[in-house]
Amino acid sequence: MRMLNLGILAHVDAGKTSLTERLLFEGGAIARMGAVDEGSTQTDAMDLERRRGITIRSAVATFTSGDHEIHLIDTPGHADFIAEVERALGVLDGAILVLSAIEGVQAQTRLLMRTLKAMGLPTLLFVNKIDRPGARYESLMADIERWLSPSAISMRDPQRAAEILAEHNDDVLKTYLYETESLDADTLREELAAQISAALVHPVFFGSAVTGAGIDALLQGITDFLPTAQGDDTAPLDGTVFAIEQDKQAVARIFSGSVTARDIVTYSRRTSTGTIVESAKVTAVHPGHVGAGGIARLTGLRGIKVGDRLGSSSTRPEPPRFRPPTLETVVTSQNPGDLYTALSELAEQDPLINVRRDPRHHTITVSLYGEVQQEVLAARLSEEYGVDAAFSPPRIICVERPVGVGSAVEFMGQSPYPATVGLRVEPSATGNQFVLEAERGSLPRAFLTAIEETVAATLREGLHGWQVTDCSVVLTHTGYDSPVTVAADFRIQTREVLTTALRNARTAVCEPIDRLTLEIPAPALSSVLTALTTSGALPDPPTLTGETYTLTALIPTAHLRAFEWQLPALTGGTALLTTHFHTHRPR
Ligand code: GDP
Repeated sequence: MRMLNLGILAHVDAGKTSLTERLLFEGGAIARMGAVDEGSTQTDAMDLERRRGITIRSAVATFTSGDHEIHLIDTPGHADFIAEVERALGVLDGAILVLSAIEGVQAQTRLLMRTLKAMGLPTLLFVNKIDRPGARYESLMADIERWLSPSAISMRDPQRAAEILAEHNDDVLKTYLYETESLDADTLREELAAQISAALVHPVFFGSAVTGAGIDALLQGITDFLPTAQGDDTAPLDGTVFAIEQDKQAVARIFSGSVTARDIVTYSRRTSTGTIVESAKVTAVHPGHVGAGGIARLTGLRGIKVGDRLGSSSTRPEPPRFRPPTLETVVTSQNPGDLYTALSELAEQDPLINVRRDPRHHTITVSLYGEVQQEVLAARLSEEYGVDAAFSPPRIICVERPVGVGSAVEFMGQSPYPATVGLRVEPSATGNQFVLEAERGSLPRAFLTAIEETVAATLREGLHGWQVTDCSVVLTHTGYDSPVTVAADFRIQTREVLTTALRNARTAVCEPIDRLTLEIPAPALSSVLTALTTSGALPDPPTLTGETYTLTALIPTAHLRAFEWQLPALTGGTALLTTHFHTHRPR
């Protein structure tokens, strides 16, 4: 069997869930078509997703077509979860981008296509809902060429295929120009497959997930045109975890090597303080022995997280780092203990959830990407844990950075605690660091650990309530009185000394800044520039291509949402906005 890991992407309502059902049905994986509107589909495993009719979490379903075993990896479609989309794309061999024959190319479709192209992922387009009255064809093809891909080839009417293929291959060009008759159907199809695999051209299929029209041709396209998974089963293990299911199974794409129950597997992740490497015995692998190209569900790897790498010899480039969440909300409940346990468990499965308990104010804070995520979280707390939670209005997450150098020291004998601690705080260009300058001498390991842990915890709280970043903490003095001193003495002393050192260095509260890229129709330029400037943005000079201006600008993240809301009115709904976290800047 040749294996293909395939993702289906779409803007909400284009028919991704229905198409998934249709493919699973045609592939014999399910006996009956579920219907989205009845909430009976296979892939939307969570009740919440069923009710909302949107897909939030990645899931995998397998079907076969010819000699292909196809793993459908269900990618989320909502913008709050674009980080999940990017993560899921990294494990795919190819993708289908679904659009609706009625609504056509939407901003979200353009955003997804841009991401697919940036990653060089072979992609088929599927125009769904052609059974509905008002379904477009020619004008839609024109929109697809304009907004999604100039190298889109309609498979309903592939007259332009040779011409488009010739643009990317001089041999085809020669044959096309001078020997038209010798470009036979087989040669064309082979060239088409090669160029689709190289993500140079994008075939467009038309059909209906509901009636099944056009699905045979799409399936044929999937098996003929998309490249199957490559990889060496005998090489060392290399994989990526892209989902944790509710039963704590880790779902991983295996790129090379293989994994079997009772294997000892190494898994690792990069964090702001370095790479964490763990290893453990796999207690079960579904479906049995999984080799290169396959998807494995692994049980027994404690503490494994989404985004973790399997194996210790990966040479693949690191996947893009998640954009840090920019909002936070204080969560409250009748029973704060249950709330914290539930949130911590959810956070373990999902790197997009970040929970903090502030001991000073007895509050629990959760970082967020947007409102939909908050809604999802509230529903999961209630449904899965029976916890009714209330959320404060979200606020922007800032950080604190040391402005200068500051130090402090407390000597035992002069303080109530039998422990000497001296610390110096300095700005650091390489994130937070803990440096030993004092003679460690005979300082027991447990005391050093107590100091280090307290430094990390104190930095998380900052002087103004924000996490301190880009800060180097140097341990300059230590001392203790054996056998009187205990670790708790070092904890208390370290917190006080570090707070004083931070006060002496002073910290600046810095707010997040995004870099945005905007494509807008030419006539909208001046009103968009005005809106940008009143949002506190600094636009770069715009560039004009055809009738479209491309604008880039730095904008305080706090003002992004409000600016985004104005955009449709300013541009007639045709703007394409992408944003990336850029930096933190003093407010
Ligand atoms: P998703 O949000 O992209 O997963 O889209 P769904 O699969 O949930 O479909 C959204 C709505 O469009 C539902 O009401 C579907 O019944 C409907 N729908 C999906 N595919 C088709 C189709 O091919 N034809 C028609 N007429 N309706 C469809």
